[in-house]
Amino acid sequence: MAELGNPSSTLAVMKKHDFSVRKKYGQNFLIDDNILKKIISASGVTKDDFVVEIGPGIGTMTQYLCEAAREVAAVEIDDKLIPVLEDTLSSYDNVSVIHNDILKVDIAELAREKNGGRPIRVVANLPYYITTPIIMGLLESRAPIDSITIMIQKEVADRMRSDPGKKTYGSLSLAVQYFSDIKIVAEVPPKCFLPAPSVGSTVVHLDVREKPAVEVKNEELLFKLVRASFNQRRKTLSNSLKNAPALAYTREQVLEAIEKLGEKPTVRGEELSLEKFARLADILDEMK
Ligand code: SAM
Repeated sequence: MAELGNPSSTLAVMKKHDFSVRKKYGQNFLIDDNILKKIISASGVTKDDFVVEIGPGIGTMTQYLCEAAREVAAVEIDDKLIPVLEDTLSSYDNVSVIHNDILKVDIAELAREKNGGRPIRVVANLPYYITTPIIMGLLESRAPIDSITIMIQKEVADRMRSDPGKKTYGSLSLAVQYFSDIKIVAEVPPKCFLPAPSVGSTVVHLDVREKPAVEVKNEELLFKLVRASFNQRRKTLSNSLKNAPALAYTREQVLEAIEKLGEKPTVRGEELSLEKFARLADILDEMK
């Protein structure tokens, strides 16, 4: 039975190991049993699954995952937490703790090694200081991933599910929606963590698509276009694209492509849907 997931046992473990949280690693431990159960249930993890947990902390969610999954690999950067995890996870034989920076871990290799290359699930209460690189790294890695269920800052969740024309719409919205189908699982107040973060949190479940949401001939060009369009938000699309070092198109070519897309020359990137970006990428790809 999972013993962590409440304030008293969390404090007791920290005291036993003389552990103090390190802000630089975004350490806010979950102390709410109901939220933990909601995350596990939304993740869809079963005894068939191999799960990667990012940032196990003192092992709170790891205990719940060990009970729900076939096998768990928990990647933790903080060396001071490794002996704590050895202690809190000692009664489980289906978990391995990997002492590493998640941004340096080859997830496809891990899936090959531990799950015969079959799709894995990722579940995490993410360190908020590197949420975006972690999510983009997972999605762009093309590793076999079924789903990603994560606790993130509410503001990042708002950006992920945003639509064209909204202030929160940008590269992250487009990448997440291209690769996955996003569902909001729960809004989580600061009091569910120890220490309490200064921001609200949201649990999201990303169902990774077998095929991306739209077809595009040159995916790399699509994401170069998206990044260039939102690099300078206030500029028109044509100005952003003609100045982009990663793209080698003249102002005339960009304007011609925008016209072919059926948009006015003054259109901004933030007005374009994912479908429109994909069509623009196809048009520009043909001009090479
Ligand atoms: N899963 C625990 C829980 O829910 O109570 C802890 C979550 S805490 C928000 C984030 C965890 O990620 C911390 O344990 C922190 O040390 C770890 N972490 C931070 N940066 C990391 C990185 N680059 N790679 C792996 N783990 C990291």
